[in-house]
Amino acid sequence: MKLALPSFQLAGIPVRIHWTFLLLVGWVALSTSAAGVGTVGVLANVALLVAVFVCVVLHELGHALAARRYGIETRDITLLPIGGVARLERLPRRPVEELVVALAGPAVNVVIVLALLPLTGWTTAFASLLEPLAFDVSLVRRLAAINVIMVAFNMLPAFPLDGGRVLRALLATRLSYTRATDAAAVVGKLAAVGFAVLGLLVLGNPLLALVGLFVYFAASQEARQVRVRERLRDLDVGDAMATRFEVVSPDTPLETIAHAYVAGGQADFPVVLEGSLQGVLREADLVDWMCGRTPGETAGDLARSTDTLLHDRRPLVEVLDRFAATKTATLPVVRNGLLVGLLTRSAVERVLAADGWGRTPSNTGSV
Ligand SMILES: [Zn+2]
Repeated sequence: MKLALPSFQLAGIPVRIHWTFLLLVGWVALSTSAAGVGTVGVLANVALLVAVFVCVVLHELGHALAARRYGIETRDITLLPIGGVARLERLPRRPVEELVVALAGPAVNVVIVLALLPLTGWTTAFASLLEPLAFDVSLVRRLAAINVIMVAFNMLPAFPLDGGRVLRALLATRLSYTRATDAAAVVGKLAAVGFAVLGLLVLGNPLLALVGLFVYFAASQEARQVRVRERLRDLDVGDAMATRFEVVSPDTPLETIAHAYVAGGQADFPVVLEGSLQGVLREADLVDWMCGRTPGETAGDLARSTDTLLHDRRPLVEVLDRFAATKTATLPVVRNGLLVGLLTRSAVERVLAADGWGRTPSNTGSV
C-alpha cells in the first residue's frame, strides 16, 4: 500500500496504520464540530478516537505475544478504521494454544478497564457514550466503557471474532479440528444472521447488518480453508513438487539462462555443482540483471544460498505455513542430499486446485 502511513515497531512487530484511518479522524472531527461542541470538544473526540485505537493495538499485541510463546511470529499488526488485524504466521492448531492466543486479546482490554476504573469513580458511564463529549473526566469513563464493549463484542462466538476461536478451541477438545471448525462456523453464521436482523429490523442500524455480512463470509471462509488444509494433511512435499526443471551450473552464462527463462515456464533456477546444490538463481535477480540493474556474467554471480531445504517426505501443510510466511517462491527439495524437486507456489496451487486427484481415497468415513 503506497499510501500507508509511517509504521513503527512494537516488541519487534511492525505496526501499520492504514491511510483510511485518517479519513476516520477527519470524519470524527467534522461530525463533532457540526454537533457544536467547540474546538475543545472536537479535540477531545479525536483524542478519544486515538486512545481507542491504542487500545486496539494493545489488544492485537496481546494476541501476538501469546502466539510468540508458542513459537508463532506475527508478520504485522494493521490498524484499519474498523479495528485491528494481527497477521500471525499461522494459527495455533492445538486447542489449548488457540484458546490462550484468542483470549489474550480481550484479556488486555479487561486489564485496561481495571486500570481505568479507579480514575472514573468505578463507573463506566455507558450512557455518556451517546452524549456529545466535553473535555473532562468523561473521556476516561468513555474509554473504559468502550473497552468493556470491545471485550463483549470480541467474545461473541462468531468467526473471525475471538469468541469464535475460543468456541472452536473448546469444541476441538472433543471433536476433530474440521468438525469443530464447521460447528463454530455454523454458530458464527447464525450470529451473523442475528446481527443483520437486529441491525435492520430492530435497531434500524445498517452498520450492524454490514458487520453481520462480514462475519457470515468470514465464517464460511474459515471453514473452507480448514477443510482444504485438513484434506492436505496426508500429502507430502514430494506429492506437490515439480520434478521436471532445469538446473544450471555456477559457470552457466546468465545470457543462456535468460533465454531459457523467456522461453519456458521456469522462474527460479537451482545452481548445482557436481551434484550438490550451491544455491538458487531467483527470478527477481535474473530480471534485474536482464534490465541492466545488476552486474554479473554467470549464474554463480547471482545465485543466492538457500538455507531452506525441504525433505520430500515432509508434510506439505507445514511447508504451506512457510510459504505464507516468506516471499520465497521456490524451495529446493532434497532426498539423501540430492536435489530431487522444486516446490514452487504454482505447484502448490495446482495441487490445491486439483485436490483429490490421483490419490487413493482415505477411509476416514467422510462423504
Ligand atoms: Zn482479538
